[in-house]
Amino acid sequence: MNTIFPAPAPIAVPVHGESGLFPVHRIYCVGRNYEEHAKEMGFTGREAPFFFLKPTDALVFVANGETGQMPYPSLTQNLHHEIELVVAIGKGGRDIPASEAMSHVYGYAVGLDMTRRDLQGEMKKQGRPWCIGKGFDHSAPMGPITKAADAGSVEHAEISLDVNGQTRQKSSTEQLMWKIPEIIEHLSAAWELQPGDLIFTGTPEGVAAVKSGDLMVGAVAGLGNLKIQIQ
Ligand code: MN
Repeated sequence: MNTIFPAPAPIAVPVHGESGLFPVHRIYCVGRNYEEHAKEMGFTGREAPFFFLKPTDALVFVANGETGQMPYPSLTQNLHHEIELVVAIGKGGRDIPASEAMSHVYGYAVGLDMTRRDLQGEMKKQGRPWCIGKGFDHSAPMGPITKAADAGSVEHAEISLDVNGQTRQKSSTEQLMWKIPEIIEHLSAAWELQPGDLIFTGTPEGVAAVKSGDLMVGAVAGLGNLKIQIQ
């Protein structure tokens, strides 16, 4: 292809047991999908699921056993961690019923929905889009993908995040208000899902600030650790 400047490199994530990479199409995120987190954000009860996106090139891949680096982002005094189970879509579709949704899942990973909470809060107050709070550069660290068949029971898995060796978030994916098949049903009603889409499924309670130098270790049982330090 003859382009007027070099086209951006494709974004792709390694998969356990595969030499080929998983090419990323879009990054969807589910808001307030654990009740105790909804409460800590000032909301109660089960709302209809809602979604936002992060730019694909916000992804920061960290291999198992390595420590990734995330630069402290601009414009914020309140950078929050949100540990999340990530669903990787292998087969696209629109209006996918929950009963068929799992056949569209390729695998799973551990991800962090990093959030400039002060900017998100300001945008919420003004009724403006969340992009500046959620979709900034380096805002989506994630680990390698584990294929669904090798991932065990991800909907009954412990999910946790430690900062500097202290546990900040600890819950179970059983606490997801909207389960993976329901998320896919709702999401595919709004957008046509494509192979390569990633879905960050929401975070449990315990979100809090990190600062320069902090080391985060996130985990979902069966999917390994995601280790990343704030620069
Ligand atoms: Mn989140």
